[in-house]
Amino acid sequence: MSQHSALLAHPFERVCDPIEKIVHEMGYETARTPENMVVTIPLGQVVFSLHTQGTQVGFSSPTGPQLQMLKDLYARRFNVLGLDAGIRWQTPADGRAPLNQSRCTVQSLTRISPNFARLRLTGNFSAFAQPESGLHFRLLMGPEGAGLPSLDDNGLTHWPGGQEAWHRPVYTVRAIGPDADWMDVDIVLHEGGRVTDWCARVAPGDRIALTGPSGSKMPTAQNLILLGDETALPVIMRICDGMPKGTRVDAVLALRSHADLQSPADPTHITIDTCAMDDDQALLQALASRLAQSPDAQVFFAAEKSVAALARDLIKASSMPASQARAAAYWTREESHDRSVESES
Ligand SMILES: Cc1cc2nc3c(=O)[nH]c(=O)nc-3n(C[C@H](O)[C@H](O)[C@H](O)COP(=O)(O)OP(=O)(O)OC[C@H]3O[C@@H](n4cnc5c(N)ncnc54)[C@H](O)[C@@H]3O)c2cc1C
Repeated sequence: MSQHSALLAHPFERVCDPIEKIVHEMGYETARTPENMVVTIPLGQVVFSLHTQGTQVGFSSPTGPQLQMLKDLYARRFNVLGLDAGIRWQTPADGRAPLNQSRCTVQSLTRISPNFARLRLTGNFSAFAQPESGLHFRLLMGPEGAGLPSLDDNGLTHWPGGQEAWHRPVYTVRAIGPDADWMDVDIVLHEGGRVTDWCARVAPGDRIALTGPSGSKMPTAQNLILLGDETALPVIMRICDGMPKGTRVDAVLALRSHADLQSPADPTHITIDTCAMDDDQALLQALASRLAQSPDAQVFFAAEKSVAALARDLIKASSMPASQARAAAYWTREESHDRSVESES
């Protein structure tokens, strides 16, 4: 449950009478006493209470994004009714974070294999732990000394230095703690990477922010074919570790070093082959042969943008229905500002 509150500088009746009228016109009920009024709508609940300085308003919703919508709706309503002069919104202790943003602490960064570092973050990751949550998020890396993105007075995200100045690469939640109070992120280390450079200077205790969860969810098919280069290793291993018992996985990973390969927690029904990262054709051939041999499987492919485009051509040319196969671009070779190309914001 996500919650927020505001204090209106107007007496209880002056606030509740017009609000109650609107709520009833919209077809919803209110529960009112001389000191409280509770409004329940699909986005959540709004509780108005008598306060020495005016009227206290409490908002609660099942999720953060719903809470943001509920607050925005009532902010507009207060404005239209002339109730917003002197309004004081509650500021979260941690600063005013947009509701799709998590602020967390770096616990450790460990080199786990020749080309991978594992970042362990601590914080509240309960939104990432739901079965229906997306598997990905964006790291938020701003200009030196910029601070973290915050909510502006209109409730929109304020990017210090401008949004363009922020590097917001997409990463995968590799693992999440049973109490959702930590998560691991496996980072490919590569020449010229801004996150690779950041890994060289980050220290335990550093505070960072990320947005999410977003993007693809845990697949549900019984028969999975998963192919990808090293940037897709984290999501492929997450799926291998998190899929329902009995699911069959046939995976192929294109790696710079065989020593980067990870082992699934339970290898039953899982096979993982590898090929060379610098041989795009090897991964594409692995896809072509599987498309021909396993027409009933669910296929996921992720690699560099041009390779993913060729994979899409192969899928189109195969007899596999489009709904069963997906090829995603996970990074681009050419110079550009935001190289995390899939729209996972
Ligand atoms: C849904 C999704 C999930 C992803 N999950 C992960 C993950 O869990 N772990 C992970 O490491 N990556 C993951 N990626 C890929 C990652 O977002 C990109 O590689 C991103 O560009 C990394 O940012 P950077 O700061 O390392 O490089 P940038 O500073 O953005 O790029 C600098 C230079 O490096 C090149 N480059 C970018 N990525 C690579 C690469 N991997 N290898 C070689 N050259 C590269 C660029 O073309 C550019 O020339 C994911 C991408 C998507 C879309």
